[in-house]
Amino acid sequence: MKLISSLALIAALSLETCGPQPGGTADQAPGIGKTISKSKGMVAAANPDAVEAGLDILRAGGSALDAAVGVQAVLGLVEPQSSGLGGGAFMLVYDAKKGEVWAYDGRETAPAGATAELFIDPETGEPFRFFEGIASGRSTGVPGAVVMLHQAHQDHGKRDWAKNFNRAITLAEKGFRVSPRLAGMIERVGAFLVLKRDDNARAYFFLEDGSPLPVGFVRDNPEYAKTLRALSENPRALLEGPIAQAILDVVAQEPLPGTMTLEDMANYQPRKSRALCSSYRQHLICGPQPPSSGGVAVQSILGMVEPFDMAGLGPSAQSWHIFAEASFLAYADRNKYVADPQYVQVETEQLLNKDYLSTRAALINMHAAMADYKAGNPSEFMRGKDATPDSPGTSHFTIVDGDGLVVSMTTTVESAFGSQRMAAGFMLNNQLTDFSFKAVDEAGLPIANAPAGGKRPRSSMAPHIVFNPEGEFLFTTGSPGGSSIIAYTAKTIIGIIDWGLSPQEAIELPNVIARRGTVKLETRGLEPELTDEPERMGPAARFGLSEDMAKALEAKGHKLRRSKGEISGLHIIYRNEDGSLSGGADPRREGVARGL
Ligand code: GLU
Repeated sequence: MKLISSLALIAALSLETCGPQPGGTADQAPGIGKTISKSKGMVAAANPDAVEAGLDILRAGGSALDAAVGVQAVLGLVEPQSSGLGGGAFMLVYDAKKGEVWAYDGRETAPAGATAELFIDPETGEPFRFFEGIASGRSTGVPGAVVMLHQAHQDHGKRDWAKNFNRAITLAEKGFRVSPRLAGMIERVGAFLVLKRDDNARAYFFLEDGSPLPVGFVRDNPEYAKTLRALSENPRALLEGPIAQAILDVVAQEPLPGTMTLEDMANYQPRKSRALCSSYRQHLICGPQPPSSGGVAVQSILGMVEPFDMAGLGPSAQSWHIFAEASFLAYADRNKYVADPQYVQVETEQLLNKDYLSTRAALINMHAAMADYKAGNPSEFMRGKDATPDSPGTSHFTIVDGDGLVVSMTTTVESAFGSQRMAAGFMLNNQLTDFSFKAVDEAGLPIANAPAGGKRPRSSMAPHIVFNPEGEFLFTTGSPGGSSIIAYTAKTIIGIIDWGLSPQEAIELPNVIARRGTVKLETRGLEPELTDEPERMGPAARFGLSEDMAKALEAKGHKLRRSKGEISGLHIIYRNEDGSLSGGADPRREGVARGL
């Protein structure tokens, strides 16, 4: 890999005022090796109850995969706004003994009856307003998170599948304490009234007088416990029999009922493949395959940043400028080219090809922001301009066990509380709003991420596992946050590899999201504030860029949107040189990282 010193780079750029030298090529990529473990294990997730459930399972001799089942079961109970049984997920698993990295895809799937017009109002011929699309039956895809976990459990589980639900069942029966974040979400999302429109959700999230559950309220959920018992006996219990029927009954309700059938559910299968990996400097970076754009986009940001001396520049305005420019370009490619590979050809290899990324990086001028950020064309593809909306829900967790098995999983019901409809004790997802609402663009070109029956909507979820130059496991990373996930995750990889930060420091770097022409950045000194975006509660002012740095970015021509709080929920586990583990949890949410 060719590394260019900052002086040489700045000298070259001041002559050329264009981009850097080409980076390395794919055939120089480092490999994946085996990793000897010296730790008993660690769990980092968005809620302490979920972390304790995972640790209990590790203590009882379960693997990281067993623990993942327990963590997800608890998250679905205590953090129903973000993820759950009714949602989907992407998971990366590194098997330290075999030296393999697997990508599991439990993404929701559109029912066979879904058409390209899924979100087009037949009366006006125009796309529905986004909120109408979310709060509907037709936004719900066949849920995949649990069957994906089961598939991975068959590969990597060490103890009985059923036992992993025990703690969540007890917590659901005895009740859990409503956390400040959950209480805040019920209050704010509840204010839009849709959550109250659903009988099950109204009875569950609100007191009899209609007020939202307060912080510390002990909420039991016997229906959820019953569903977990059914799942512990039959991992496909959501997709057949009475629970499947309960889901269908709710999906079929007005307004905008969905077309999902028992056959759609019976047909659902999770997917498993090798992870999508590329090199960054001397490290190997592995993420999910499409239909998530998270792997491609994070890795293409890194590929474009790679020729620059980020280590020498440190976390400066200059570095954030490079990061922003690379992000603009990577988001443009991701918007145009990534969708379900079983429906459209997705050229991940071309998109991550080092020569291609060098031509993209060459567009970056150190002194000035680009006037226009267009997608490249690595494969001479004709694709329409994407019209996929964006909204945040989701949770990311990570687990390492004593054998060195590593899990990095991002899991979601899409928006806050998904479609805001509840069945069998859990929320139904609104994942199909991750499709483009339009199927063709103004020029008449087909849009890659258009809805279709049986198709999986594009995701931004980006669970990653990073390997050191010896091919050993180094760290995991990933976050919730809609399409901002890509920027949140990429900054942590640069923070750790280039800036030598600890996991916690990397998480607490300011979030800088450069997409569609605007740089949104956490800015220090602004009071955190509630906004109209329901999940936005971050106490971000603490982590923001200084106003001086923001001004330096403006001086380069960037259009800034100063953010008073981002909703990253980054969780990282890092393997130290002596084999011990360090964790990091995002203070913008309620998570913790704890080891055994
Ligand atoms: N549905 C989004 C996705 O799959 C995630 C939403 C979020 O992170 O809040 O990319």
